[in-house]
Amino acid sequence: MPDALPDRLDVLAVAPHPDDLEILCGGTIAKLVKQGYKVGMADLTSGEPTPRGSLDTRKKEAEAARVALGSPLRINVELPNRVLMDSPENRFKLATVFRTYRPGILIVGAGRTPAASPDHHQGHLLGEAARFYSQLTKWDERFDGTKPYRVPHLVYCPFPFDAEQRSWHSTFVVDISDTFDAKLESIRAYESQFDAERFERVKHMIGSANGYHGARCGFRYGELFALPHPVGAPDLVTLVHGSKPTAPPDVPVGQGHLPMG
Ligand SMILES: [Zn+2]
Repeated sequence: MPDALPDRLDVLAVAPHPDDLEILCGGTIAKLVKQGYKVGMADLTSGEPTPRGSLDTRKKEAEAARVALGSPLRINVELPNRVLMDSPENRFKLATVFRTYRPGILIVGAGRTPAASPDHHQGHLLGEAARFYSQLTKWDERFDGTKPYRVPHLVYCPFPFDAEQRSWHSTFVVDISDTFDAKLESIRAYESQFDAERFERVKHMIGSANGYHGARCGFRYGELFALPHPVGAPDLVTLVHGSKPTAPPDVPVGQGHLPMG
């Protein structure tokens, strides 16, 4: 067990490959940092091999992307790329990260991507299982001597398009209008994966997805999340109005920016 545990994280975001978190929730990570929360990023694998990259390149790109988002911490769990599985051994490794950094909220890249890497779905399962394992007693030796820790909150961040066809319940959208540029910059850092032509394509895809989700809530750009349970609301008005409960918002929630006939 480490002599001194690092500071607790407010939020830890987890996904299989370097560049997944940037695409899924880079705007929210940058926004949380701006809001003063301590946010960590965990990549389950190196992302290599790929047709275009190398271990060293991916490491440097992931670091540049971290800097673009302003996150103080990026961990690589060093599980195997392409053959990532929700296995007991991998659960132990990820749960050890949870027990070490003790996040208040865990964001997990979620859903199936039938036309892309199967690692994405396994990462989802692994995140859920490791969260459960993290709290277990009498097993400290399996978690590098760390003490049990229960992660209080789990948030899903669905992979775009394919996975969204699932009926996610308890969805919510975070306004990333002011951090969308930082998100794009973090994705641009992965030059080995996105040359100029591929970057234009991914930029269009992300702008469309984040523009769509944002517009549904009256934001220019938004990222979609979901909870594994209903949204709890101590105050209906605060929930419906967002952060300004006393003044009705200029744009009614759900009607977007444009007047619709
Ligand atoms: Zn991926």
